[in-house]
Amino acid sequence: MREFDAHELVLFGHDAPTGLRAIIAIHSTALGPAAGGCRMWAYATTTEALADVLRLSRGMSYKNAMAGLPFGGGKAVIIGDSRTAKTPELFAAFGRLVDSLRGRYVTAEDVGTTLADMSHVARVTKYVSGLGRSAGAAGGDPGPKTALGVFLGMRAAVSFRLGRSDLDGISVAVQGAGGVGYHLCGLLSGAGAKLRVADVRTAAVERVCDEFHAAAVPAGEILAQDVEVLSPCALGAVLDGESIPLLKARVIAGAANNQLAQGQNGEALRAAGILYAPDYVINAGGIISVAREYYGGTEAQVLDEIRAIAPRLTEIFERARRENRTTNEVADAMARERLQRNAPPGLAA
Ligand code: NAD
Repeated sequence: MREFDAHELVLFGHDAPTGLRAIIAIHSTALGPAAGGCRMWAYATTTEALADVLRLSRGMSYKNAMAGLPFGGGKAVIIGDSRTAKTPELFAAFGRLVDSLRGRYVTAEDVGTTLADMSHVARVTKYVSGLGRSAGAAGGDPGPKTALGVFLGMRAAVSFRLGRSDLDGISVAVQGAGGVGYHLCGLLSGAGAKLRVADVRTAAVERVCDEFHAAAVPAGEILAQDVEVLSPCALGAVLDGESIPLLKARVIAGAANNQLAQGQNGEALRAAGILYAPDYVINAGGIISVAREYYGGTEAQVLDEIRAIAPRLTEIFERARRENRTTNEVADAMARERLQRNAPPGLAA
């Protein structure tokens, strides 16, 4: 399977009484315990679930390394429909599977799982984060933290590509007004950006239109809007051979994971003069919060680390320009350098 990339461990778990079927993939523990959320999804086949968890766990190694966190990369998937198949017992069974790894993997919420689900996991294992927090402490809902990182990263990208030091009057098309997109729209509106927003949920669009004076756009038309910045905050794989030729934006800066359908799509963006902020660098605000919650840090620390996303992106943009490479290639190379510098012999990524 091409997604297999020298992963340290892949664990399949089954629990007959609760119906749990899960896979945990640990890509690397070179920088610390492998951390990454638990996705619940109605995968059609186990092979599909395995491919997803292998790809996502490697992505977490890169994301955590680039964010400077003391975490390696891991991810879990639970095979099942998150709307119908959830029970507290299922998540406790998942927690026991996590616990069996004795801290080599730390879980948290992800697509299809919530803070409430993680509270059932936390009944049986301490290797879980994203549970909530007390005043001044790090943690809680990662969505607003991710949005802040994307906002600051977008400002850096606009400065690099368009030579503008702020976002006042800059037009931005936001795809997806969910947990991250909603908060991002709030920050962008506060900075004076002109917003166009699409979501397949009408209520989500209406909310940002009402609160932040955004213009609603049909979901099928958001990518090709005539704007300065495109911010994919919904699905992965939205940038492909079909969509890229239609883009009019000069900057792409959004929260969605795996925005490029394939790595080579980065070259098409570069050739078109579109500056792409690599997704796992710009969207690290949430995992920064989860990490500091796990290690008992403060909210102030989290904000400091989120502020570091913008200069990190500028470094990537500059290196890409200097080396005539795509920004995603440069980010991958920098992440691998960080992993290899820290990897014990035999565990290099
Ligand atoms: P979410 O599920 O809360 O919001 C996603 C929104 O996108 C939903 O409102 C959904 O209706 C909408 N959507 C789905 N398909 C769409 C389409 N075709 N066109 C327009 N809108 C569509 O998720 P989220 O937490 O806001 O995360 C958004 C993206 O960012 C995801 O790809 C997620 O993996 C990624 N991400 C999130 C975080 C975080 O902290 N929540 C961190 C890193 C990355």
